[in-house]
Amino acid sequence: MPIASIDPASGKELRHFQPLADAAIEERLARAARAAAAWRRTPVTERARVVRAAGELLEREGDRFAAIMTSEMGKLLSAAREEAAKCAVACRWYADRAGELLANEPVEVEGERSYVAWQPLGVVLAVMPWNFPFWQVVRFAAPALVAGNVGLLKHASNVPQCALALEELFTRAGAPEGVFQALLIGSKEVERVLADPRVAAATLTGSDGAGRSVAAIAGKHIKPTVLELGGSDPFIVMPSAELRQAVTTAVKARTLNNGQSCIAAKRFIVHEAIYDEFLRRFVPAMEALRVGDPTLPETQVGPLATTQVREDLERQVAESVGRGACLLTGGHRIDGPGYYYQPTVLSDIPESAPAFGEELFGPVASVFRVSSIEEAIRVANATRFGLGASAWTNDDAEIARFADEIEAGSVFVNGMVASDPRFPFGGVKQSGYGRELAAVGMREFMNMKTVRIRLAGSEGTDTE
Ligand code: NAP
Repeated sequence: MPIASIDPASGKELRHFQPLADAAIEERLARAARAAAAWRRTPVTERARVVRAAGELLEREGDRFAAIMTSEMGKLLSAAREEAAKCAVACRWYADRAGELLANEPVEVEGERSYVAWQPLGVVLAVMPWNFPFWQVVRFAAPALVAGNVGLLKHASNVPQCALALEELFTRAGAPEGVFQALLIGSKEVERVLADPRVAAATLTGSDGAGRSVAAIAGKHIKPTVLELGGSDPFIVMPSAELRQAVTTAVKARTLNNGQSCIAAKRFIVHEAIYDEFLRRFVPAMEALRVGDPTLPETQVGPLATTQVREDLERQVAESVGRGACLLTGGHRIDGPGYYYQPTVLSDIPESAPAFGEELFGPVASVFRVSSIEEAIRVANATRFGLGASAWTNDDAEIARFADEIEAGSVFVNGMVASDPRFPFGGVKQSGYGRELAAVGMREFMNMKTVRIRLAGSEGTDTE
């Protein structure tokens, strides 16, 4: 794929970039390695200061960053501003807690002064997607930089200006040369960068195909990885749910980010007692959404990010309908410039349909009718993914079962799935492994070092 910014609202190319040549990649790797050696010795307070300063810039210049995001990948300008603000919160969260999260943890052993120390691994390669082009990167970079790691960003090929803006952000925040660099390279170059001995680890957010490839390369070189992959999150509505609120949230959860979020609700699993009423409200609400120019305040759904994303979605919907799914609204591209697609609702979806087993990355809701909580849980878990889940009920026994039995990295009851720096974020099954955010997100790329110091005069016992 060429590295180019194409405005999805018009289909027009804004800028394009030459991928880095071999010598330039080598130069950046060498710079990263030099920076890693110095950055790990830089006091934690100084590393936290840089990340805090990045957060302040994100807050102050949110409008400018938002305009870059919207122009390259089509998210609503209002959502892009919120994304910049959320990045600022994450920077502050890690900067505020740096000392506490990185302190040695003493372990009580008689005759010893022993502890667990947290040390950075070095250069971490971050392979990132376009859908939250700032948030995905900052939620990796803020904890990594505070921890003393350095970052090499290989961003998605359709958001090069976001990649360069992020590099500039950390430089202006005071990160020394090489601590955070963007690599404008295609995905074919990932293997050589990851195989390079100067790179210690990798994190990838993206499709399961990309995850498989990066995990295989990292496995060959025995390097740790965190994978944040796709999802087909269930949104379960039971009879005791507050239906008005559930429907409002269902529409939002499906169409957030123009339907292109890993944790968007994608499969709506509705109890038969309220199924007809749910559809009576949900379908017109999806139909009423205003689709259009993402820079206009009245727009609720913007374009899809690339022509390929729209083609994939068109194929999945057409094939699902061909296999017997019922099209309740939408189902087609919107003619004219830009990559627009109608908000769409499918029901009566057979297991053989793409809408049953694949991730649909766009404003297409798949609705399933179930007759019991057992069936709701079975359908929710009938996917190779396991990222998030949302369940709507006011029955305590049902809440306990959903929390316990749904196979996902997070379960939200009577709320929409969202990431938050205070909680671990990640998936199970083919949604990936490892966690981002919270303390654990920082520690994924750290050496948890056991240090045991026998005190003078203490006998101790040496056992294996
Ligand atoms: P993608 O095509 O997998 O691309 C993601 C990144 O991986 C890009 O930088 C891409 O580079 C690179 N890449 C693609 N194939 C690769 C390969 N074989 N080897 C190495 N790198 C490779 O995904 P996307 O279309 O950008 O993003 C959508 C997907 O991301 C969805 O499945 C979504 O659910 C998932 N996602 C997951 C999370 C989460 O937290 N779990 C968050 C957001 C998105 P190029 O652009 O150069 O191809």
